[in-house]
Amino acid sequence: MDDIEHDVKILILGSGGVGKSSIIRRYCLNQYIPVYKKTIGVQYNEADIHVQMDGSNYQIKLLLYDAAGQEDFNNVSEQYFRDAQAAILVFSTIDRGSFDSLRRWKRLLDKSCPNIPKVLVQNKVDLIQNSCIKPEEVESLSMEWNMKLYRVSVKDDFNLKNVFQYLSEVFLAGK
Ligand code: GDP
Repeated sequence: MDDIEHDVKILILGSGGVGKSSIIRRYCLNQYIPVYKKTIGVQYNEADIHVQMDGSNYQIKLLLYDAAGQEDFNNVSEQYFRDAQAAILVFSTIDRGSFDSLRRWKRLLDKSCPNIPKVLVQNKVDLIQNSCIKPEEVESLSMEWNMKLYRVSVKDDFNLKNVFQYLSEVFLAGK
């Protein structure tokens, strides 16, 4: 059977340094750069994913957008949100402030894109020993927002693919 093709624009939101650009680089290019260099951050890339659902084959092109350089809440352009079909809210295991900022990112996202599938991502779980964020706090936020939580490590390539698999399936289910 022929594949059914879709393009899906996915936003990646969260504070600076949480690993948004690294998520795109890892998922689309299977590369990881350990040194933080804002100037070589990836702001956009694409990856194809194949999903089987209800007996049909779907070929989905994921268009991943990082709000790089727009990390001031009041400054993210409308263009960034336009036509978005899914979103990832990211925070870092070792950055308490990035967790506390999630509510503001969520508010911004809900205002511009109220009805798209969203997922919560805790990145850098390879550094969980150094975390000052309690697992229960994260779980409780995920429950409050009714958003699925993925704990990932871009560095170790742990659990990241599942995030995109899940978002693709939720997107298709809503078609
Ligand atoms: P952005 O500002 O949100 O785009 O963050 P970057 O993708 O530029 O990542 C910031 C820093 O965190 C970089 O030095 C990355 O190498 C590092 N980083 C990203 N993901 C991970 C991870 O899973 N584990 C660890 N230990 N470091 C990570």
